Amino acid sequence: MIVKELSKSNNVLKMEALLRRTPNDYFRYEEMKEDLRKRLAGYNGERAISYYLDYLPDKDYFIFHDMRFPSGNHYFQIDYLVLSPHLALILECKNFYGTLFLEDSFNQLIRTANDKEEGFHNPLAQARWHQQQLSTFFSSHGYSQIPIDYLVAFSSPSTILKTNSRDPSILKKIVHGYNLLERLTEIERVYKNEVMDMKSMRKLSKLLLKSHVPGDQDILQKYGVAKSEVITGVQCPNCKALGMIRVRRKWFCEKCECYDSDAHIDAVKDYFFLLNSTISNKQFREFTHLTSVDMASKLLMRMNLPSSGANKGRVYHPH
Ligand SMILES: [Zn+2]
Repeated sequence: MIVKELSKSNNVLKMEALLRRTPNDYFRYEEMKEDLRKRLAGYNGERAISYYLDYLPDKDYFIFHDMRFPSGNHYFQIDYLVLSPHLALILECKNFYGTLFLEDSFNQLIRTANDKEEGFHNPLAQARWHQQQLSTFFSSHGYSQIPIDYLVAFSSPSTILKTNSRDPSILKKIVHGYNLLERLTEIERVYKNEVMDMKSMRKLSKLLLKSHVPGDQDILQKYGVAKSEVITGVQCPNCKALGMIRVRRKWFCEKCECYDSDAHIDAVKDYFFLLNSTISNKQFREFTHLTSVDMASKLLMRMNLPSSGANKGRVYHPH
């Protein structure tokens, strides 16, 4: 059963909004684009892995995608957490192209692609670190009886994996997506004892969902973009130009001459992602370049957003 399904993280959505609304000659624009590309590659890797996880029998497995838990003053983030009656499995997904060499003595991962060598953190060390933190989390909530294991899954079948490690237990922890289910079955055989029945699995699921804290980066601050630099306007869903105008009860794009009824909805989402956690009628008009207070009210009301305050003080919140 998928308890928390795969979706783009808040921070990825924020980055997409930022790229839509930053001038492309901004001096950090290319860096932003590259960061988003890496994050999307990670997301696509996780999506490839979810294809295999979909085959797990619903009643025996609870699957959580992209969980982020507090740990002291910090957080730790797990790509997939798989609960079964026998154990909790941490699944770290890696989406790398090229040839990967897991170097044992310096504990690093070296990727060779297009004649270039690049070093990365050892994903096994990362998974072990998450295992430790999850174990502390479980203990503090009375679940110390649940064993925690981990796997690092490489999502691209074309990734070539090499290592100089002679430790067979390490090699068992790395898997290609297409071998994932087979390896999971092997792991289940190791953890024979049933440590949770359906009822405690449900109870633990609730706790996990309640403890999850979505990432919420101040993306403008991260890339040094001032609020005043964010490009306002409604974006044309067809040609992506910003600054649609209101004509005959619809949004009209002067560039590609297409109409759209709902283009302001994405603009409001961008506003929430980038500028503020609430929007007033005035802020909505400024952001969408509307002049009519009544029209702005109507469009905001129709979005059925939760609101607080009354009359001129009314502000709308995201769903
Ligand atoms: Zn257009």
